[in-house]
Amino acid sequence: MTERVGIYPGTFDPITLGHADIIRRGAKLVDRLIIGVTTNPSKNPMFSTSERLAKVEREVAAMDLDNVEVVGFNALLVKFAQKAGANVILRGLRAVADFEYEYQMAGMNQQLDENIETVFLMADVSLQPIASKLVKEIALFGGDIAPFVSAQVREDVVARVEEIGRMGDY
Ligand code: ADP
Repeated sequence: MTERVGIYPGTFDPITLGHADIIRRGAKLVDRLIIGVTTNPSKNPMFSTSERLAKVEREVAAMDLDNVEVVGFNALLVKFAQKAGANVILRGLRAVADFEYEYQMAGMNQQLDENIETVFLMADVSLQPIASKLVKEIALFGGDIAPFVSAQVREDVVARVEEIGRMGDY
């Protein structure tokens, strides 16, 4: 049997407990899981590529998984997958909101390379609503993000928010 290699791509700005749950579930399904952290600067992330990569690496190390590696990439996903020898693209699915975009992307990637399957996973019910974008918004407005990210990521986000300045308090 050929080795099953999965790619889990994302921005991870920052990595949340939702991402970590998908990583844990995904790692069980494949022989090797490559987490692809996009280095595409057009998304105007709160954390630089190296900061996002370092956080994902730190979280993965804490999860004690021996078949997961973390790499940065800035390429068409299918090309990145081909180069890495991957046959599975792993995506997390949250509510209906994710579906349309994910459906389109999976469909188009299928046409680009029919040998690569997209597999969707759902996080634990309690972690499903978590989105990096909202974590950043909550932190920017001084809310507590403890239920959504690890203690270390929380510290990093709070520190970054202090640097860039909190939003209004009324
Ligand atoms: P993107 O820039 O595509 O939004 P993200 O870093 O936000 O990338 O997410 C990467 C992947 O993780 C996506 O497939 C996204 O749907 C999934 N994901 C993020 N948060 C969750 C969550 N709470 N539950 C399930 N999947 C999630």
